[in-house]
Amino acid sequence: MLSSSDQKLAHIALLPSAGMGHLTPFFRLAALLAGNNIKVTFITPSPTVSLAESQTLFRFFASFPEINQKQFHLLPLDKHPSNSEDPFYYHMERICQSSHLLSSLLSSLSPPLSALITDMSLASPAISITQALNLPNYVFFTSSAKMSTLFMSFHALIDSEATTDLDEIEAIKIPGLEAIPRSWIPPPLLQNTNNLLKTYFLENGKKMAESSGILVNTFESIEHEPLRKLNEGKVIEGLPPVIAIGPLAPCEFEKIQPLPWLDEQPAGSVVYVSFGSRTAMSREQLKELGEGLAISGHRFLWMVKDKKVDREDEEDLGQVIGSGLMEKLKEKGLVVKYWLNQEAILSHPAVGGFLSHCGWNSITEAIWNGVRILAWPQHGDQKINADIAEKIGLGTWEKSWGWGEETAVNGTDIAEKIKEMMGNELLRHQAMHIREEARTAVEIGGSSRMGPMELIETWKKT
Ligand code: UDP
Ligand code: UDP
Repeated sequence: MLSSSDQKLAHIALLPSAGMGHLTPFFRLAALLAGNNIKVTFITPSPTVSLAESQTLFRFFASFPEINQKQFHLLPLDKHPSNSEDPFYYHMERICQSSHLLSSLLSSLSPPLSALITDMSLASPAISITQALNLPNYVFFTSSAKMSTLFMSFHALIDSEATTDLDEIEAIKIPGLEAIPRSWIPPPLLQNTNNLLKTYFLENGKKMAESSGILVNTFESIEHEPLRKLNEGKVIEGLPPVIAIGPLAPCEFEKIQPLPWLDEQPAGSVVYVSFGSRTAMSREQLKELGEGLAISGHRFLWMVKDKKVDREDEEDLGQVIGSGLMEKLKEKGLVVKYWLNQEAILSHPAVGGFLSHCGWNSITEAIWNGVRILAWPQHGDQKINADIAEKIGLGTWEKSWGWGEETAVNGTDIAEKIKEMMGNELLRHQAMHIREEARTAVEIGGSSRMGPMELIETWKKT
């Protein structure tokens, strides 16, 4: 421990990326740092893509008046988004293209910064800037450690002479770790042509090796092997320390929400159904899912999303899933089409299972609350995350369902898997066990507490 005379006021700036899946863990990290006597500046690239981001930012700053907000006004993109690319990826591109403005923004902060913490999707431009400023830059990887091994080694695979045709890749072998099958790799990465995801993966994944350290929202007991291999230099030589800091505890403001319908349901009886903040299903698949929920016979709380970006989600529920099905669903469930804080739902005693797309935040939140999962990965890193959920005994995963929109999954099959998950007592017990391990990891002396505390001490000394 430092004596108070050795300590100075450490000042850390955080630079999150686009989308709630990136913003939420940054809120939690900011709260952790502010709670340990660090001055925190939270940089907010603006405007935001979704309404959920701007509304949650407002609530975050209202509940943490001690955290300094610094707007980062983005320049317009020189080229208009095409329909084929994800609007959140366009936004990351916009942040990258505006990144030269960051240099003066960072230098203007007072007292001078001790370090910057950057989202992994902005690692490449941000590290170039902080290198010129001689400022330490830590990358926060908001997905799993296993996903980070793919993220950081993919560029080497593409550069290697052995890989001339991506169509021929059957699996990705990462030294010391189980191979990642082709079918789990985010499909845009396997295209021979360039796309935003692939470019951002290659550039940021490579640059992360030049950071001061890599923070991951995970913990030892669920990802011991990838964390060990990363830190032994087996995945990438010369990598900075990879530090487990998770699962980051949700902030108080995420929990406050009246949920009168849930309050009336028996303990552990409700299946919560959500595919995160940016996954819209086809109307046909939504109808099958609705039928499946009705057939399952279980109570449920279903968050429906019809458009990737919430600002565009205008049609009402009757139009999206049909008034006949809506009537049927009212018997046992609640169907909503607006933002509710997932933490308030998952921490509610009525919730007993989670049909999830397996975004990494959703997995860590299910772990935090001891809720078992039925995995239905849709895009991106979600199959790699689903595999972790299955391996640690938190959930089940029906692999034949493929990626979202790859296969039309019918209602009867969905109902069957929901019944299996809700009837699986082993999963329920194991979910509670992992919850205890997660909470121990972040307690004083816990494996995810030591790394951040050491960093905080270092920042206070330098
Ligand atoms: N979330 C929420 N309410 C919703 C949908 C999502 O609070 O209706 C939160 C969820 O708790 C998580 C984040 O938004 O913290 C979504 O991140 P995740 O990694 O699960 O998935 P993504 O949305 O990035 O696909
Ligand atoms: N993607 C999507 N919806 C999602 C999550 C991802 O369409 O909810 C797509 C996205 O367009 C990208 C790919 O999946 O092509 C990779 O997403 P990943 O989850 O790796 O990105 P992240 O959530 O980390 O930004």
